[in-house]
Amino acid sequence: MPITLPDLPYAQGALAPHISAQTLEFHHGKHHKAYVDKTNELIKGGKLDNAPLEEIVRAAEGEKNQALFNNSAQAWNHSFYWKCMKPGGGGAPTGDVARAIEKNFDGYDAFKAAFADAGATQFGSGWAWLVARKGKLEVRKTPNAQVPWTEKGVTPLLIMDVWEHAYYLDYQNRRPAYISSFLDNLVNWDFVNENLAKA
Ligand code: MN
Repeated sequence: MPITLPDLPYAQGALAPHISAQTLEFHHGKHHKAYVDKTNELIKGGKLDNAPLEEIVRAAEGEKNQALFNNSAQAWNHSFYWKCMKPGGGGAPTGDVARAIEKNFDGYDAFKAAFADAGATQFGSGWAWLVARKGKLEVRKTPNAQVPWTEKGVTPLLIMDVWEHAYYLDYQNRRPAYISSFLDNLVNWDFVNENLAKA
């Protein structure tokens, strides 16, 4: 079965005004779709045809197949990113992740500052992450399509896209304003808690 473009878990206009329908139309309908289509084109007829997306990403990284890695990892990253947001989200975390953030970062404000800094200082395109590793939470940043979860023992909890296509239509060059909106108004802590439960 080919890799599929998942539907957004909310309506295209549901994250406005923080992320507009127009941004989601292009980001999901054009950018994400292109990564999915290109991945399918690259695996067609090969040994990774029918493989789950996660396995394709790991194999491409292992074999240093850069084109396949870039497209499949971006397909994975975007599928995960949509689920990390919800209308009316953001603000202080809830549940187990609230307690874990309290313990690992000296409180939500310190976590927020570290996560925002990771996003703002990722030079060029890339991603900011909250991950669990060996029972602890860590903030990471990765360039381009790169993922931290192919590293042994790393479970991704939260991801934020800082490629310009994620925010330019709504915020132009003001990446920090997009990051603040993401943290204050969009983060889906329920999904982060689901991920933490698997770590
Ligand atoms: Mn993107």
